[in-house]
Amino acid sequence: MSSKAPVAATSPPAPVVDAVPQELLSRFRVVKREFLKEHAAWAVLLEHAATGAQLVSIEAPSAGGGDEKVFGIAFPTEPSDSTGVAHILEHSVLCGSERYPCKEPFAELLRSSQQTFLNAMTYPDRTVYPVASLNEQDFRNLVGVYLDAVFRPRLSPWTLMQEGWRLEPSEEDKSRFKLSGVVYSEMKGVYSSADSLHAMACGQALFPGQSYGVSSGGDPAAIPSLSYADFVGFHRRNYQPSKARLFFWGDDDVAERLRVVDEYLTLGNIHDEEAHANGAGDPLPSGWKDPQSLTSWWPPGGARTGEATAYSPASPSDVVDEASAAAAAAAAPWTEPRTIRVEYPAAVSAEDDAGADAAADVASAAAEAAGEDSSGHFVTVCWALPDGGVGPGDADYVSDADRLGLQLVSALLLGTRTAPLHKALVDSAMGTAVTGGGLATHLRQGVFEAGLKGVWPAAVGAGPEDDQDAAVQAAVQSLVMDTLAATAAAGFDADHVEAELNTLEFAVREFGAGGTPKGLSLFLGAAGSWIYGRDPIDEMKFEDALAELRGRVEADAKGYLSGLMQRFLLDNKHRVTVHSAPSRTLSARLNSAEEAGVASVVSGMTPEDQAVAAEAAAALSRRQATPDTEQALASVPVLTRDALRRDAVIVPREERLLSLGDAGRCQLLAHALPGTNGIAHVAVSLDLGARLPAHLVQWLPLFAQLLTTTGSATRDDVQMSHRIGAATGGVSASAHASPVPGRRDVARLSLTVGGKALNHRVGDLAAIMQELLLTAPLAARQDLLRSQVRESVAATESALLSAGHRHAMSVLGATLSFPGELAHVMGGLPQLRFLRQLRARLESKDAAVAAAAAAEAQEVMEAIRGMALAAAASDAAAPGGADSGALATVVAGEDAAAAAGDAVCAVLRALAEQAPAAGLPGSGAASPSGVVGVGHSVSASLSPMAAMGLAGGFAEAEAAAAAGEGPRRVAVLVPTSVSYVCEAGIGFASPGEGVLTEGPEAGGAPLAAPAESHVASSLLSLGHLWDSVRVQGNAYGAGAAVDAVGGSVSFWSYRDPRIGGTLRDYATSSTWLRAGTGGSDPDAVDRATISAVGGMDKPASPSDKGSQSTSRWLLGITDEQVQARRDAVLGASPQSAADLADAIDQARSGTDGSGHVCVVTGKDIARAEGIIGADGKAAPGWQVVDAFKGERA
Ligand SMILES: [Zn+2]
Repeated sequence: MSSKAPVAATSPPAPVVDAVPQELLSRFRVVKREFLKEHAAWAVLLEHAATGAQLVSIEAPSAGGGDEKVFGIAFPTEPSDSTGVAHILEHSVLCGSERYPCKEPFAELLRSSQQTFLNAMTYPDRTVYPVASLNEQDFRNLVGVYLDAVFRPRLSPWTLMQEGWRLEPSEEDKSRFKLSGVVYSEMKGVYSSADSLHAMACGQALFPGQSYGVSSGGDPAAIPSLSYADFVGFHRRNYQPSKARLFFWGDDDVAERLRVVDEYLTLGNIHDEEAHANGAGDPLPSGWKDPQSLTSWWPPGGARTGEATAYSPASPSDVVDEASAAAAAAAAPWTEPRTIRVEYPAAVSAEDDAGADAAADVASAAAEAAGEDSSGHFVTVCWALPDGGVGPGDADYVSDADRLGLQLVSALLLGTRTAPLHKALVDSAMGTAVTGGGLATHLRQGVFEAGLKGVWPAAVGAGPEDDQDAAVQAAVQSLVMDTLAATAAAGFDADHVEAELNTLEFAVREFGAGGTPKGLSLFLGAAGSWIYGRDPIDEMKFEDALAELRGRVEADAKGYLSGLMQRFLLDNKHRVTVHSAPSRTLSARLNSAEEAGVASVVSGMTPEDQAVAAEAAAALSRRQATPDTEQALASVPVLTRDALRRDAVIVPREERLLSLGDAGRCQLLAHALPGTNGIAHVAVSLDLGARLPAHLVQWLPLFAQLLTTTGSATRDDVQMSHRIGAATGGVSASAHASPVPGRRDVARLSLTVGGKALNHRVGDLAAIMQELLLTAPLAARQDLLRSQVRESVAATESALLSAGHRHAMSVLGATLSFPGELAHVMGGLPQLRFLRQLRARLESKDAAVAAAAAAEAQEVMEAIRGMALAAAASDAAAPGGADSGALATVVAGEDAAAAAGDAVCAVLRALAEQAPAAGLPGSGAASPSGVVGVGHSVSASLSPMAAMGLAGGFAEAEAAAAAGEGPRRVAVLVPTSVSYVCEAGIGFASPGEGVLTEGPEAGGAPLAAPAESHVASSLLSLGHLWDSVRVQGNAYGAGAAVDAVGGSVSFWSYRDPRIGGTLRDYATSSTWLRAGTGGSDPDAVDRATISAVGGMDKPASPSDKGSQSTSRWLLGITDEQVQARRDAVLGASPQSAADLADAIDQARSGTDGSGHVCVVTGKDIARAEGIIGADGKAAPGWQVVDAFKGERA
């Protein structure tokens, strides 16, 4: 088989698959083999002869060892109802299989493998299981465990009860039952987010009555309809070897790929279902029945019966929210467009939640006028695009070039703030932010969506006596349709088309250099089309389609692009306008419907059945609390420490101190790295800390946004956007507060402006950065200022609802360190409050108020610009300390790094030369008064939170602790039915002392926490916290983290049904770390070490490597110290667990025996947990903040 003929120098060598022994290869049919020039790799498509399963084997070129190997397997899993069966199965197959009979092989792999990616995802039409590792043996272990899991899982009723749903006695009142389960909790969180609900409604509305018309993630109201028989049956039908689509990428042994795939496909989807149904070794309580027989009375559609129901798949982590969908069998095209109205649960504010009546269902005009309550209407226009067929013979075939052309049209319409449809939507001022995002192509049929959120009837001109629903719907729909028609008639600007074509080309060429492992991106990108019969290898190519697209655009841009818009959007009647209206009573109605549903189920059960259900829940809890046997655990293969690489990855870095002439000096960090794909990244970082008054910190994020979006002195925002698109891969600006080793009371506060470009365009990139920094009009463009503030408010609110744990950690971070306080002011609740107030003033009906706000914004923006220029003119930044100054960074290939360095230093020189002439505040020496941060100790009067009139800053917390007051306990109320529970304190240094426990003299890095604490926190997160908070407590996620620089220890949970119980689990962490089941078990520490090293070795893109190197440099960490920290991790012993236990005790040594606590939760839960008392007031010791009012209760 092996082709031994010599190959010409220009041809690639023959694929390795040719050399696989005939006996093994003959078990497959080679369907196709092709050298992919896009990825410099052979791709071979094989079909397993005995089963018909398909395998794509990609022989990626080796870059000299340690390359990432990727495996994935996909099954088509189209649900027929909203019970979430596909999603629950995705969780469940990873809970033990024939060959790996422990409780959670998935968790064991997280605990003990070197995986660089390990996950599973449920899409509306498929389930995918990808893994990746750098270590070949580890990779084979992962592949074996995953193949056994998907084909031969132990799907017992215990699995469904744990991962799906169960009835269990309530903790507070044992005579009452409640619903619980991991996916049940996860989806309650998803169904709490207005953005997710609206996206799901859009996905479902296009495909009623089809598999994309139901919730693949699971509607919490329908999940309890899932029976054990349906659960197992779904697996038996869909996880057949014949339906499997398998994928390999990397430089691993190709023959071994075929061998292991053949082995598992031949074993097939065969297992002892009867034994599983009886509990898989853990017998069920006698009298146990399939829940179906207990809940067949469950209302069809669940507790949401009677509500508008157009909800569908879910958003976060493992449930892939396409905000869109397409039918499994292509949907029959519509002859008329449709509209649909649904409701979502809006925030309930303090004054109207007592006795909300029908009138309160629509948010009050008073709240609207105050601009305080941001829940408005969502209206999105959605199209289903043709199926596209599998080949040119199909009637609705869409060519590869046209598919790319649709991406181009989508980017032209919506891709930038100046794109015509995006701009029309924002400029209309009818809503707060654009929804939809244009084209999505992840499912069988493409979908196009665009609309607005935060729409108020008054903003579309509807009065109280008008039909407000009809008015908001019609206003947004007309705006979208009219803009499309006008744009198609006029065509796009030539320079706009060139800019977006360049951006598209940049994106496809950067593919794989941008962060996500390339093999993983290829697998996830191809899997969707593959299950519908498209050629998976064709899906990985782009060069020919790109060339064809460019040719068509060059021949007749208007004819071609307007033609696509006409065919796929304007003439396409498969269109629905989805309207999600806020309801202030829906949340309460859903909760009481669920309670009533459970009560009616339970009252319909015989006392015997109730007792059996209670006993099953108790037995599950005992089973979860019982560790696996040694034998079961030993089935999961584990590497030894010897297999771990000793050498730390050191990113090569050249440091140069360059003179800027009279204007001081500039520090340049240049990283010449392989794998940049001809792309250079450059940035300038300007230290503002020594100049910026405390009360201006809150303005920095807005400054960064306006800097890149308002144009320049010679180009308006539209022209500048086109110039950026045509010449670069993007320009961005951001503000950061970073820590200074050994000092929790100072911070480095910097503004970073940077971008990426092809090597030969880096001069253009630098010129753009300079033009923006020196001449961007910023707040002088008042129209852009107002729309930016509106969008920022909406984005910050969405983040608060979808990532509550991050906001809770932000609240705690502000208490624990000064950098944390700055970060909180720039990204947490204080930022939201600031933006809302600014928006209210800018949009005030009182013209004088609006004018004053605009004038203030302009003055502040120019002052910040002056400080940035002054930073460029001051001395160069220095490592490890807190000196103010300028820093330039470069990441590029070896041939391009020097030129990129020259270009970026020229930017700093130009800035520095302008600084003295500018005559702006801060252009002279750093002013000692009103100064924050760097190099200065901070007092409460200089706290940016104090300057905003807010309590809870670092200095205040330190003073409170010194006065013997208890730790802070804060509850942030948002409209949600799950909680995010965080606790934190300083564990590795005494407050205020800034102790270096591990100084450079000791051979370690100048950080507060020892490197081994990383192993111990991983052990705790994947051990005790996984078992107690996730498995038993049903939170979707939980963990512990150590901040190496600041020395804090923190706990977090995500989408958690509990608060008090979770805090109790945190409290037992140090005991667990010292006990036999935890850190004192040397084997457990060994496994945690392997997992921690896997985490440290995750492959990074060149630009990520450059960022990591830069932050190490800023922290003053030398290469020797990086190696010393790796050595310490590799040598971690049970002592490191004991040390973390001590640190946790220190962190939790507040006067009430806890750390600082912050929970983000819903009002009803806060009441049930006793955080809000019966009198409606905060319980003693708690502060309650209503995030949607911004006021303290
Ligand atoms: Zn999930």
